[in-house]
Amino acid sequence: MMMKILLASPRGFCAGVNMAIESLELALARFGTPLHVYHEIVHNQYVVKRFRDAGVTFVETLDEVPAGGRVMYSAHGVSPEIRQIAAERNLQTIDATCPLVTKVHKEAVRYAKGGYTIILVGHGGHDEVIGTMGEAPNSMVLVESPQDVDALEFPATQSLAYLTQTTLSVDDATRIINRLRERFPNIANPPKDDICYATQNRQEAVRELAREANVALVLGSQNSSNSQRLVSLAKEVGIPAHLIDAAAEIDFAWFGKDDTVLVTAGASAPEIVVEDCIAVLRKQFGAVVEPRAIREENVHFPLPRELRGLATSDRS
Ligand code: SF4
Repeated sequence: MMMKILLASPRGFCAGVNMAIESLELALARFGTPLHVYHEIVHNQYVVKRFRDAGVTFVETLDEVPAGGRVMYSAHGVSPEIRQIAAERNLQTIDATCPLVTKVHKEAVRYAKGGYTIILVGHGGHDEVIGTMGEAPNSMVLVESPQDVDALEFPATQSLAYLTQTTLSVDDATRIINRLRERFPNIANPPKDDICYATQNRQEAVRELAREANVALVLGSQNSSNSQRLVSLAKEVGIPAHLIDAAAEIDFAWFGKDDTVLVTAGASAPEIVVEDCIAVLRKQFGAVVEPRAIREENVHFPLPRELRGLATSDRS
């Protein structure tokens, strides 16, 4: 016996993250610095450090961008208030919001215009949730658990709708939505699930493969919602799971020499950190790799409008 690595697929970069990273690379090459990004371009330390080292300035508020300066919005999107402040300060904006996040924003606007109160299922404080709630701040409430749903009170005549953050646990969201439907049988829901294809596929792979493994290694940053969900899912299946940014964080005490190790990566984690981890496990334990693809992904998003025509690749 020897250590086996079940290398899950799909894993790692999704179409939204690919688009955001390509956008920032292109903007940097075309416009140079100073170049600001509002919030982390994607929630990954490795990616953010690489761009910071290349001269990109990440900001938490637009005050940090000089008037007339150039700023990119991250894949997680921004509220209309931020767009307005940017316009007032004459900032040159590039919008790298993932189209699947924009879709949720549009649904929020549509329901709010229709007089609905919108219940957003998500994690408080996440960049995406802040941006989405900003579309209709007076018509939205956030719920994070079935208990939150129990605490909701609305007049019987109030029209209700729900939306979800794109990177939730499918199982947790289902529990919360079921409770919403129990309490508010007439609640309206979006035509299609808001949890994005990449989140669903990465979770499906872990759900399926964790049963064959003794331990899971998830590459991703602590503030990456979809990566955190992969860890929770592996634990729910009954195996220990560790969320790490890089191979240097591996603790050999996590593994037995004959273990089957499930290796996957959140949607914002680059493949290089996966390869590094595999190399470490190979060297230390003589691990053999068994790639396991449970689904094909073939999704691409166009570059932001502001960058189209600038690309040198055939994606332009
Ligand atoms: S995880 Fe989903 S919603 Fe988020 S950037 Fe990727 S594709 Fe878009």
